[in-house]
Amino acid sequence: KRLVGPKTASPTCLIVSDFSTTSNLQRLAGKVAVITGAASGIGKATAEEFIKNGAKVILADIQDDLGHSVAASLGPDATYTHCDVTDESQLAAAVDLAVSRHGHLDILHSNAGIAGGLPQDDVTRLDLADFDRVMAVNARPAMAAIKHAARVMAPRGTGCVVCTASSAGVVPVPALATYSVSKSAVIAVVRAMAEPMARRGLRVNAVSPGATRTPMLLRELPRIAAVSQGMSAELTRLVDEDVDSDSVAVMLEPEDIARAAVYLASDDARYVNGHNMVVDAGYSVHKGAEK
Ligand code: NAD
Repeated sequence: KRLVGPKTASPTCLIVSDFSTTSNLQRLAGKVAVITGAASGIGKATAEEFIKNGAKVILADIQDDLGHSVAASLGPDATYTHCDVTDESQLAAAVDLAVSRHGHLDILHSNAGIAGGLPQDDVTRLDLADFDRVMAVNARPAMAAIKHAARVMAPRGTGCVVCTASSAGVVPVPALATYSVSKSAVIAVVRAMAEPMARRGLRVNAVSPGATRTPMLLRELPRIAAVSQGMSAELTRLVDEDVDSDSVAVMLEPEDIARAAVYLASDDARYVNGHNMVVDAGYSVHKGAEK
């Protein structure tokens, strides 16, 4: 029943990819990236992985102290800048900073996100102000990222945007209904904008993580537990055991998502456009089949 075993077991997949032999490759050598939500979790891990692969990275976030210290720990190829992704002008400024500091921009990783208030599955108590806030942080910036990345990339005819969506955007999680809608919107943006980007020689793709051990997930767990017993049991098993013995769910590490982002951002993916790369050990396929 289980597609992939715990971290310690050998995966039962047929395609064997030995990262140990490729980890020294500089897949992003000479590239310049902006990553939003880079002070923590998946964005932070992606900044580390991008730099390991030869990129220069602007880390953009609203947690300034944390962002500065993460950038300092990553060395001279990392720079922190304050950027609230709900404000288009701040996103534009982060893009312009990359160009003024490094001469060009190759990758914009639109990654910042929030879970939103709970409950999201009580139909008589839906909080539309919260819906607007979640869409403003999670969905609208994907469109703004494409606009401002394309503004500086199109004249060079090269570059890409990677958006962090979620497996919840593929198979909605009722307890996180608002969040699920916002992530479906991100996937829709990627699909809708792939052809307009391609006309300029550019690409846009999504990476959709399953449950990933980040401050966001660990912070949200108790709140989710309070409103959704079923989901909380599943997630709690994951936090405790890394794998849910009742399903194919696996607790991912931020690096698992970062490596997918490296691929999508690299020239190895030069013809990959409008794609949503789901990284969840098959969980959403399994859940989708159940529904
Ligand atoms: P995290 O909370 O560790 O990191 C998110 C970062 O985004 C934080 O540093 C936060 O300060 C920043 N941020 C929040 N609002 C912002 C704003 N308005 N402007 C700029 N930055 C802002 O969470 P994470 O789990 O690393 O989340 C990263 C992305 O991955 C999010 O889009 C999230 O929805 C997505 N995701 C996470 C999981 C998971 O299980 N952790 C699963 C699927 C998708």
